[in-house]
Amino acid sequence: MSARRGGSKTEKGAESPARGRLGVWVVGLGGGLATTMVCGARMIARGLASNNGLVTSTPAFSHLEVADLGDLVFGGHDIRPVSLHASALEIHRDTGTIPFEPLEAIRADLDAVDENLRLGTVVNCGAAVTALAGKAAKRRRESLADTLDGITRDLEEFRDLHGLRDVVVVNLASTEPRLEPQKDHQSIAGFRRLVAEDRRTAVRASSLYAWAAISLGFPFLNFTPSNAALLPAHLKLAAKKGVPVMGNDGKTGETLVKSALAPMFKYRHLEVMSWQGYNILGDRDGQVLADERNKASKVETKDGVLNRILGYPLHTHVAIDYVPSLSDLKTAWDFIHFRGFLDYKMSLQFTWQGCDAILAAPIVLDMVRLADYAHRSGEEGLMTQLACFFKRPLGVDEHDLHFQFHHLMDYLAARRGAN
Ligand code: NAD
Repeated sequence: MSARRGGSKTEKGAESPARGRLGVWVVGLGGGLATTMVCGARMIARGLASNNGLVTSTPAFSHLEVADLGDLVFGGHDIRPVSLHASALEIHRDTGTIPFEPLEAIRADLDAVDENLRLGTVVNCGAAVTALAGKAAKRRRESLADTLDGITRDLEEFRDLHGLRDVVVVNLASTEPRLEPQKDHQSIAGFRRLVAEDRRTAVRASSLYAWAAISLGFPFLNFTPSNAALLPAHLKLAAKKGVPVMGNDGKTGETLVKSALAPMFKYRHLEVMSWQGYNILGDRDGQVLADERNKASKVETKDGVLNRILGYPLHTHVAIDYVPSLSDLKTAWDFIHFRGFLDYKMSLQFTWQGCDAILAAPIVLDMVRLADYAHRSGEEGLMTQLACFFKRPLGVDEHDLHFQFHHLMDYLAARRGAN
């Protein structure tokens, strides 16, 4: 378990374990989602924005002591030379989601976060991600063991420099191509062997970030579809170290709607014959997903949901196309063909126009708070209570959003009893 430092007194004078500086280490710190999350957290902490979208700020969570957003200290890795303020300004100009005046008011905060930015690795990330990288990241030629040591040192320095009571590590980096499972992914010794023997094709960058985090006893969240981040070896290490972890792929848009809507057909015994989903999006995420190998990771996490909810095979299709002018304003059009009494065929269509980062940023903050809470409570391994936040929740077969949400509420009720 990590050291608890910097705790502060509550109004009643008792030490509150939720207070004190909590580190949030973001892999992909300069990205659209990370920038929106950091800006949002700072604006809310400074009273410049409402806490809309944050599930942990609703009354259901009031008995749970979660970290104040003002206590979060951000840092992270990226493979591009980035400045948070420049990235936020670009988002403001592209989509207008980050408002200008509050952005200027938190400029010093963002500059302070830049001080905590460290150069990441693109090892075995595939051509689409490597193409994004700056010269320094492309030039980095080290063994896997040295890269892992470097990441570990960055995390330790961050914790020590800021006197953090704990650090939650979140993967918000670009989607990697899928990594095919291998025997050495199954055990702690096997993964260590891959690193020691420098077998670069069997490990991806996300595998190293997660390994470093878990080894240091830091909770880890994989918000991306990259399956290499949480291999069976990582889960075993998390159990051994007593660290909570969870993934994969945040559920924020079309798949969120699917997992809320598909149960309705099930509840009324309406047979879904086909469900076609067409997604178009711009920005860097869309650009990386335009590569077929990276797209396959995303389609895999999006496509599995319906069969699992409905319990029978149906015709499904998920398309993701890159439309640069849309920027982060993703559009999804879904067509659902179903039949009911007397086999009469009917259809439902919906169009979802969401801003990806605006939907995702608050739930990343929610999960940081809940991962910190779980760690403080001595929980370890997969945080299945977070299933409702993921497209492919590890260790959970239930994909119906309503069940998943009740699972989280049951967790809260149990904690109410425990407190
Ligand atoms: P983005 O392209 O804007 O940001 C990704 C950032 O990661 C970039 O700054 C990039 O330079 C950096 N990066 C890439 N590879 C890296 C590496 N190996 N090490 C360190 N940094 C690296 O993308 P985004 O829109 O911010 O999305 C981030 C991730 O979250 C993507 O994988 C996306 O699929 C996933 N995701 C997003 C949403 C959502 O926004 N609604 C939902 C689910 C999943």
